[in-house]
Amino acid sequence: MKKVKVGVLGATGMVGQRFIQLLENHPWFEVTELAASGRSAGRSYPDAVGGRWKIGGKIPDFAKDMTVKECRPGLDCRIVFSALDSDVAGPIEQEFARKGYVVCSNAKNHRMEPDVPLLVPEVNPDHIGAVKGQRFGDGFIVTNPNCTTIGLVIPLKPLQDSFGLKKVFVTTMQALSGAGFRGFELDIQDNVIPYIDGEEPKVESEPLKILGGFRSGKFTDADMKISSHCNRVNVVDGHLETVNVELEQKPDIDEFTEALRKFNPLKGLKLPSAPDPPIVIRKEDDRPQPKYDRNEGHGMAAVVGRIRKCPILDYRFIVLSHNTIRGAAGASILNAELLLKKGYV
Ligand code: NAP
Repeated sequence: MKKVKVGVLGATGMVGQRFIQLLENHPWFEVTELAASGRSAGRSYPDAVGGRWKIGGKIPDFAKDMTVKECRPGLDCRIVFSALDSDVAGPIEQEFARKGYVVCSNAKNHRMEPDVPLLVPEVNPDHIGAVKGQRFGDGFIVTNPNCTTIGLVIPLKPLQDSFGLKKVFVTTMQALSGAGFRGFELDIQDNVIPYIDGEEPKVESEPLKILGGFRSGKFTDADMKISSHCNRVNVVDGHLETVNVELEQKPDIDEFTEALRKFNPLKGLKLPSAPDPPIVIRKEDDRPQPKYDRNEGHGMAAVVGRIRKCPILDYRFIVLSHNTIRGAAGASILNAELLLKKGYV
């Protein structure tokens, strides 16, 4: 199969760097363009990144000789992955879609729009159909959720399908890299920051769209309530979330655990970035932990542990997901793989 040419917008940032790393030797995609702000444009990729390569390992060889361009249509590629700062992502992504590109975006700007899929391939693959009616001209935009939302909706989906979901209460412990470069400038030693600007509204609204329906060209929200507390903690990568759920049916703990364990809806599709299984269950009392478990399934799995009864709602558990892989670049690449597999590219 001839590889599809792809570009990365915001290639120099925290999520952009993950794209570069994950796309090295990708079996379906070849990176032909890198773009970022005017500060980086015209420079070689290593020069533009400078001392900001924060994700471990080295800059892949393929990127070393590439020159960073401005984020304007005219790039030689079919798909653009957007890791742009949300202050600028909205109009730039629209412009690319208007000019016929397939845009797979990490930014929040278009996520909740009525004709844009907020796609998680394991959870709502049918939402992909929304791109057919999109207003952006020859191309289209597909988004992936906030890095906290994605770790939450993966275990919620099999619970919703098996038992029905009524209420979700989630408290997050979110990694520094979730705030991009700014995360590493926070006053976080000996500290927890109990507020992340704009995060709680996203965690409470995005799952309703993702777990909701898509019929006759329209999204309908899932009928459930979500309440959240979002905290920044002194961890480099990996968001940990404690989750309490109230269900419509009342399974025993083995049925509850089994519903999570057997969830593997993408198995037959053979998408290169799909984790197999998407939910890894840990039995130890003190797992998952970000430092040890965030790379499970190459950083694409949701790691669930401490499943137990809840005296207020029905059940409680912990979920860990890698915020810049499953929560960002890896999610976008998986979306592009599904688009290609389903014939949208
Ligand atoms: P970041 O590290 O601050 O990187 C921002 C990127 O945007 C850089 O490449 C920067 O290029 C580029 N940029 C800034 N202003 C620009 C402009 N005027 N024109 C073109 N490019 C511009 O941010 P990040 O953490 O990677 O996040 C990127 C996006 O993904 C954001 O929308 C964020 O909300 C979302 N997201 C992040 C995470 C996460 O875990 N970090 C998870 C999910 C979603 P220069 O280097 O040239 O300035």
